[in-house]
Amino acid sequence: MRLLRDCSYAELRSLMDTDGLAEVHTRALWNVLMRAPDAELDGHPRFLPPLRRWLQTHVGTTWSSELPEVEQEVESSDGHTTKLLLRLQDGSRIETVVMRYNGRQTACISTQAGCAMGCVFCATGQGGFSRHLSPGEVVGQVLVARRWATGLRNLVLMGMGEPLHNYDAVMKALDIIIDTRGINIGPSRITISTVGVVPGIRRMADERRPYHLALSLHAATDEKRSALIPVNRKWPLRELMDACRYYCAQTQRRIFVEWTLIEGENDSAQEAGRLSELLSGMNVQINLIPLNPTTGYSGRAAESRAVRAFQELILQKGIPCTVRQRRGIDVAAGCGQLAGVA
Ligand code: SF4
Repeated sequence: MRLLRDCSYAELRSLMDTDGLAEVHTRALWNVLMRAPDAELDGHPRFLPPLRRWLQTHVGTTWSSELPEVEQEVESSDGHTTKLLLRLQDGSRIETVVMRYNGRQTACISTQAGCAMGCVFCATGQGGFSRHLSPGEVVGQVLVARRWATGLRNLVLMGMGEPLHNYDAVMKALDIIIDTRGINIGPSRITISTVGVVPGIRRMADERRPYHLALSLHAATDEKRSALIPVNRKWPLRELMDACRYYCAQTQRRIFVEWTLIEGENDSAQEAGRLSELLSGMNVQINLIPLNPTTGYSGRAAESRAVRAFQELILQKGIPCTVRQRRGIDVAAGCGQLAGVA
């Protein structure tokens, strides 16, 4: 069964129009699907008889209005992060993380069940790829996350999966999420994170997608990067940097470069020098993230002294550079820790 939330407003309208229903019914249904997602469709007081009949015929046979089911909810000790284990219609499990800091509410959304990219330090990559998520499964996570963050306004697509490996479904989901008639999250509050899927970066540039782009870089030589992020063999640094320059030129946007600091691996002054050289002249901001632990990778987080020294060297080269605070790692909800298991 397909999800009703796989449909954009226009698609839902066309579907219902074919069955002779006026637009007032599409508006009523869309409103409930996107703005009151936990309401029962059956016998909803705002639905008129033609819509009730249409729903009786279609929902539960060809279409489903289900949201991902929350199987487990774990809260970090500081109370600011909630990790949700969600079960999809076919039994696949994914994780969504809700973060609440300083009045700002953000959801970290998954785009695939598992991931095919195989980054060695990431629990999702260590578990392998299961399948792509549909647009409605991405939209559904936002609606479920709102139960824990009613003022949710920010999304990062940094959960399980590589968003640009599931490009069409992800972009369609975001079209639905930014629709002002429904969920209405502003595009400038949405960040897509990639490990460097070059065709996806170029396509985002060509299509002038209005979202922030974050690039998980982590190493500044092909040898080191391929050892950490196997997909670098397919799209090596020269190709990746060309695509990033193209993206910046086409969109006039800054790229957020994510650098996970691993002790003895990529936290030296020499690495900082290579990184600033690689990014020289580009419109970027670097975010440093001390490594979060996972059972399948023995690397350790860089020490805070090394983190500060690395940041200082980057700043001296005139590149904006911040250190991201580690959040939610006591419940394995941090970057690279999502495994989709209870
Ligand atoms: S870091 Fe991202 S792209 Fe790499 S394996 Fe993990 S989820 Fe996939």
